[in-house]
Amino acid sequence: MINKIAMARSAVVIDPEYLKHDPGRGHPERAQRIKVLLDLAAELGAAFARIEPRAATHEEIEMCHVREYIELVRSTSETNGFALDGDTVTSRDSFGVGLLATGGFLRLLDAIAAGEADNGFALVRPPGHHALPDRAMGFCLFNTAAIGAQYVRRRYGAERVLIMDWDVHHGNGTQELFYRDSSVLYMSTHQYPFYPGTGAAEEIGASEGEGFTVNVPLPAGCGDEEYLRVFRDVIVPIADKYRPEWVLVSAGFDPHRRDPLAGMNVSESGFAAIADMLVRLAESHAGGRIALLLEGGYDLKALKESVAAVLRSLRDRQLGDAPAPGGAAIEPLVRHILRVQEKYWSL
Ligand SMILES: [Zn+2]
Repeated sequence: MINKIAMARSAVVIDPEYLKHDPGRGHPERAQRIKVLLDLAAELGAAFARIEPRAATHEEIEMCHVREYIELVRSTSETNGFALDGDTVTSRDSFGVGLLATGGFLRLLDAIAAGEADNGFALVRPPGHHALPDRAMGFCLFNTAAIGAQYVRRRYGAERVLIMDWDVHHGNGTQELFYRDSSVLYMSTHQYPFYPGTGAAEEIGASEGEGFTVNVPLPAGCGDEEYLRVFRDVIVPIADKYRPEWVLVSAGFDPHRRDPLAGMNVSESGFAAIADMLVRLAESHAGGRIALLLEGGYDLKALKESVAAVLRSLRDRQLGDAPAPGGAAIEPLVRHILRVQEKYWSL
């Protein structure tokens, strides 16, 4: 049954400035990713409010990164082709674009908190979820999702923030930042074993944060049915128990079947169905507050079409029952994760 409530006022953060970070010729995390999303934003016109980004302040970046690291990234603005890590390379504009990526997400959070938008999607680059407190990693400079979670805690007093990370890679940076922290629930679906190597089901957090990290390591080849099963049977039931006040999403589109870097088979409508479930979750617990942030996704056509499908989910709020998934092949994995998590969530 579909309970269609009023369309949401959904906002998009995007800006041509995001084209300026240049990690070098042939790099998959390239400016064209934003170019196709600027085209999409133009096609969508007035259907989505457009929010101008701002640069994050150093104090905001310092909520998740050490000062020496921020200084190191700043120092790269004097040169092109500075390799912070084997595959994380900066150009003169990268530091500024990195601040604008994080600040763009914070602007979206402010717009939602102020009621100027119901929900939204920050279409920014570079991505952030591999970035560690003291170093760059995996195309990522600053951990925007993690900084966003700290921001809503400090600025808006949030006590329970969910970060859902559906990028095909495990968000090791985000996990690390909140591993001992119960005020942020980090949940990730990712290909495993795969880059960056972390994200086993048994990584569940430690000390105060024990039970507040939920990893769903999926074998290569999973598609819509397997993802929907995981969201229906693991992600949503745990999130329902947690009752997040904010839902932040590290939205990578590299689980798409066309993606050149990974081996999953998710379709545009699969991403839309996942987004529907998260919108419903936010409506149930978080006053509808859900903010998505672009992480990976390296096939331009898949990226544009998937973002378009997810934006429709945000705006149209089709709050019906979740689609019945297949995905029986991963039933043993689902049972294993529920066994690992049940003592924390009485599932
Ligand atoms: Zn990724």
